[in-house]
Amino acid sequence: MPELPEVETVRRSLLPIVGARIDAVEVREPRLRRTLAHDFARRLTGRAIHDIERRGKYLLFHLSGNEVLLAHLGMSGALLLQPSGTLAQTHDHVLLRLSGDRQVTFNDPRRFGLLRVGRLDELVELRNVGPDPLSGTFSLDDLTALARGRKKPVKNLLMDQRALGGIGNIYANEILFRAGIRPGRQARRLTRAELQRLFAATRQILSSAIRLGGSSISDYRDSDGRPGYFQLRLKVYDRAGESCVRCRTPVRRVVHAGRSSFFCPACQR
Ligand SMILES: [Zn+2]
Repeated sequence: MPELPEVETVRRSLLPIVGARIDAVEVREPRLRRTLAHDFARRLTGRAIHDIERRGKYLLFHLSGNEVLLAHLGMSGALLLQPSGTLAQTHDHVLLRLSGDRQVTFNDPRRFGLLRVGRLDELVELRNVGPDPLSGTFSLDDLTALARGRKKPVKNLLMDQRALGGIGNIYANEILFRAGIRPGRQARRLTRAELQRLFAATRQILSSAIRLGGSSISDYRDSDGRPGYFQLRLKVYDRAGESCVRCRTPVRRVVHAGRSSFFCPACQR
């Protein structure tokens, strides 16, 4: 499931289309997570793409006329930049034909993805997206404030999209391993030193995943949307029973709120 680094990788791979115009929109399957609005194609056609922004796991295509195309990749979505006229494949649901002989294709086998056009203030999905952990304005003090008073496990805090935008189960596990903190610890019980380590680990894990994802952009376009985390050597996620890369203690798996948590009982306290 695409998380912040994968979505950021997609954003960067699409930057060449900034400045292009949407000449035509072909909807092959409107039934995504939400069925596309009946005027979806009409509202996009003829607009220029001014910028592409990411907020958490959402991509925002800022268009002429103050319209925004909002995209969320859901479980299995991909936005593929292709030469125009590329033959549609199975699960290619929406094609944006662009000026300059290019097209962007939204492919999504499981159809949990979301596409929506609207003015920024109409896009209700964005109202509850928390601050971006990689933004220059997000600080250790902000993380400390988020943790304060939270009885829930620190891993839930990392994955709470209202608190922090963009982190899912895979990177939450990796961040906590790097920080040396057990996923089940109550957020409010973390010490100042632990919060510092958590803050640093969050930035390090996400930025190195973006760097690795960035190197796989060409892969990404050619393939059926293999996201970046396959490029990242995961240290604890999905490694239950295998030895910890640091101390060789077997990695343990527990379930929190229906999601698997992986940790090293020796390295993480
Ligand atoms: Zn260990």
